[in-house]
Amino acid sequence: MKYFVSPFNKAADLKFPDNITIYDTTMRDGEQTPGVCLRTPEKLKIARKLDELGIHQIEAGFPIVSNEEKRSIKAIVNEDLNADIIVLSRTKKEDIDVAIDCDVDGIITFMATSDLHLKHKLKMTKEQALNICMKSIEHAKDHGIFVAFSAEDATRTDLDFLKKIYQKAEEYGVDRVHIADTVGAISPQGVDYLVRELRKDIKTGIAMHCHNDFGMAIANSIAGLAAGATAVSTTVNGIGERAGNAALEELVMALKLVYGVELDLNIKKFCELSGLVEELTNVKVPENKPIVGKNVFRHESGIHVDAVIEEPLTYEPFLPEMIGHHRRIVLGKHSGCRAVKAKLEGCGIEVTKDELCKIVEQIKMSREKGKYINDELFNDIVRSVRGLADL
Ligand code: MN
Repeated sequence: MKYFVSPFNKAADLKFPDNITIYDTTMRDGEQTPGVCLRTPEKLKIARKLDELGIHQIEAGFPIVSNEEKRSIKAIVNEDLNADIIVLSRTKKEDIDVAIDCDVDGIITFMATSDLHLKHKLKMTKEQALNICMKSIEHAKDHGIFVAFSAEDATRTDLDFLKKIYQKAEEYGVDRVHIADTVGAISPQGVDYLVRELRKDIKTGIAMHCHNDFGMAIANSIAGLAAGATAVSTTVNGIGERAGNAALEELVMALKLVYGVELDLNIKKFCELSGLVEELTNVKVPENKPIVGKNVFRHESGIHVDAVIEEPLTYEPFLPEMIGHHRRIVLGKHSGCRAVKAKLEGCGIEVTKDELCKIVEQIKMSREKGKYINDELFNDIVRSVRGLADL
């Protein structure tokens, strides 16, 4: 057995769509993390790794931003990956033209739809917004590419207007409509209501784009899919504006293991991908970050270590090798004999029971004196207890 989750999960009779599309936006929304700037070679590395994982659509950037951004997108398109390459465009003709010039498979054209954004950002009426969106969809569709329309701040938009704009987009032949929870302000129950309401009037596929301001990006993404959305956006390590986006590795693993929804991705690559994005963006992965954080498979407490050595699933919901992670036993204040014995055996050292007890005692004392138990200190302790100079 590689994982063990609650049997009560099945009590909720959820129905997920058969084919869920992931469009990963690490290189667009993820790159909008303050302080992050990815150049062409870096974007290429991330794109290749996402493709190895089997991601369906890669949102590679926002080509109007700069010439370098445009070059990066062209370079990714030229890689001829299995994933479709899509990019972000405002509703302006110049944005769509530059995307088409990059030879991308599709675009996401977006416009804010909430009263708040219309009034304070766009300084436009609803009618004006409606017309501008449709012109851009028409222009992009004329070039035969995939076109998604994203309503920015959709979750704080008047429902009738949201329906109207998506319906009109549908009439103009849009391939997918996106619900952007731009400031992460909806609840999973709110998402369930919204998606079901929209599906009454819209037949086009719906995508979720969720932010994590209240820590609900994953729950909201999953609620959207369970309500009938067919696509979902993610970023590696959950990077993105403010509190970030729904993390790719969390979403895929929760869907697979907790909800039993298989996306057929090469999940063994998750740790490698996470490390690559951490290195190239310089956004550190917190040690307690779900799925890929260092502490997820690190154990110190004697009770936990004893059990994990016997059967890992006692204190791990799934095995680290599933995602290319590894287990580590950390020695410290909470260590017990079994962990220390396992560590000694790993080093090929045999000790008597008495020696083992003394080593455990020394480890606890050293840690409480503020010392971190690394291999060097561990060897010193073993040496001093056994009265040996060579180890
Ligand atoms: Mn966003």
